[in-house]
Amino acid sequence: MSFELITIPCLSDNYAFLAHDATDGKTLLVDVPEAAPISKILEENCWRLTDILLTHHHQDHVEGLEELLKSHPARVIGAEADQHRLPDLDESVVEGDTISVGSNTGVVFDVSGHTIGHIAFYFEQSNLLFTADSLMALGCGRLFEGDAVQMWESLSKLKALNPDLTVCSGHEYTSENGRFAITIEPGNTALQSRILEITRKRSRKIPTVPSTLKEELETNPFLRPESAEIRDNLGMKNNTDAEVFAEIRKRKDKF
Ligand code: ZN
Ligand code: FE
Repeated sequence: MSFELITIPCLSDNYAFLAHDATDGKTLLVDVPEAAPISKILEENCWRLTDILLTHHHQDHVEGLEELLKSHPARVIGAEADQHRLPDLDESVVEGDTISVGSNTGVVFDVSGHTIGHIAFYFEQSNLLFTADSLMALGCGRLFEGDAVQMWESLSKLKALNPDLTVCSGHEYTSENGRFAITIEPGNTALQSRILEITRKRSRKIPTVPSTLKEELETNPFLRPESAEIRDNLGMKNNTDAEVFAEIRKRKDKF
């Protein structure tokens, strides 16, 4: 059975995700910014937590783990590359590994760039892609450890997946990302409409995450270095996609 997904706002602008498989009674959590809001949802729904996936080692994605495990023990899975700086893992994974949660199977992608060792999880049957701080709503993570070539390689893997996917990313940064995106591709009508929708949602405190991969492909400048308008604006008609991506990332850092 497909997962039922709940998006949980945590800390000031983080998101955690609970995915519940009712047939098997399994519940998966992606990232643990904070224990209390997650326990609350588990308890309200009488869901038993079975699996926790960690996307990367940053404090704002793991700091609720220890406390949560006290009341909700579960299997903890994270990247082998990050074992030395993640909390204790029950299972470590590398790109291409699969994770079974009830009848749902997830595939691990290495999406290094924001950090080296950042992973994403793709659950095909449920159409869910958990990207945290790699591909984000209208943006991508800052390059703290990797370089632009590496991030472009990571995003290219996600770009090739089914556009119908629901993209579960790690932060509510979408308004700010939209303000930047429109300077890069002002003539993109899909982007213009998306920004209106974001403003409408945020004025009512509705999350803009998750999004769909289709929306990101049409509006996220970091997935669109092939766009003629973007290339024109940046004066990069004959550059590679990776070079255009690098320039967009550089401009966003200074925005
Ligand atoms: Zn991060
Ligand atoms: Fe983060």
